[in-house]
Amino acid sequence: MSVLTVLEQRDGKWNRMSFEALAAARKLAGALSVPAQAVVLGSGVQALAEEAATYGVEKVLLVDEPLLAHYTPDGYTAALEQLIRAQQPKVVIFPHTYQVRDYAPKLATRFGKALVSDVVDVKAETGDISFVRQLFQGKLNADVRVAGDPQFASIQAGAFRAAEPGGEKAQVEDFAVQLDQAKIRSKPEEPFREAQRSVDLGAADIIVSVGRGIKEKDNMPVVEALAQALGAELAASRPICDNGWLPMERQVGSSGQTVSPKMYLAVGISGAIQHLVGMKGSHTVVAINKDENAPIFETADYAVVGDLFEIVPALVEELKKVKA
Ligand SMILES: Cc1cc2nc3c(=O)[nH]c(=O)nc-3n(C[C@H](O)[C@H](O)[C@H](O)COP(=O)(O)OP(=O)(O)OC[C@H]3O[C@@H](n4cnc5c(N)ncnc54)[C@H](O)[C@@H]3O)c2cc1C
Repeated sequence: MSVLTVLEQRDGKWNRMSFEALAAARKLAGALSVPAQAVVLGSGVQALAEEAATYGVEKVLLVDEPLLAHYTPDGYTAALEQLIRAQQPKVVIFPHTYQVRDYAPKLATRFGKALVSDVVDVKAETGDISFVRQLFQGKLNADVRVAGDPQFASIQAGAFRAAEPGGEKAQVEDFAVQLDQAKIRSKPEEPFREAQRSVDLGAADIIVSVGRGIKEKDNMPVVEALAQALGAELAASRPICDNGWLPMERQVGSSGQTVSPKMYLAVGISGAIQHLVGMKGSHTVVAINKDENAPIFETADYAVVGDLFEIVPALVEELKKVKA
């Protein structure tokens, strides 16, 4: 009986959502009083498994197998099916990545189950597990319960703050799988690579993010001045990038980047769910919006209700005074 997290890596590099999923798994394992475990799949990934063992889990299972050197849905499904049948976890938690969307429903089906996808919270009151999913663009939350074990769920990007390493190092245990090359039907090709990004918003400490409240391109210097005064990176909601007022690589959200800076300053952004998933892992969120009912205020630590064209220049002036 455990809560097992499937950590995702590609070419020896973690997908950072793995540790958000692990945070969810640890919460659930704590509530159920069962161990949290993790599995690392790939070829030549011993070092990653050792690293994962420092993230507050009871045990890391290592599936190191040449046929898993590159991701294939058949290979991953077969390997994880064998592992889950042998280990019998109560719950299997995944990060809700593109890769997981590809193979995890098929894996769950092997156990006669559905994958509860894009989960934003996990609960285990009185021992009954609920997976919280958002409906109608985040206007409603549904508690989803699954009959029987194992249960399968994937965690939405940004829903949990990533687990941090620290504490005692757990044991790493090899788990051997039997894979048949002939049953792996897809042949991986060179992965698609996006054009080199000139900005890594994921590494920024402070982000000033601008939304449609800025109204037109000619007003962009208003927020540029704020970003400059704070030493922040400039980012935006999707309409701003769709309009070409900022490059696409500065878009935050479900179809843009996922960020978790120390401070995220949302200026004239309503807080649509597709935007929130990209920034709600931020440590402190400050929102400036003239609509006191804007959904962004539900995520914000500091809510400034007012006209950005009055507030932002005044803020820049104050920042300049402090620096002078
Ligand atoms: C499949 C899909 C993927 C998507 N992916 C993304 C994504 O990755 N990222 C993303 O951001 N969106 C994404 N969207 C779009 C998303 O649904 C919203 O439409 C978008 O986030 C809204 O952007 P916004 O908040 O800037 O604009 P709006 O929703 O128009 O909000 C503008 C806000 O500005 C405020 N405002 C107006 N004037 C002022 C003023 N003078 N002072 C202060 N406040 C003011 C208003 O009160 C309002 O709250 C996606 C949508 C779909 C369907």
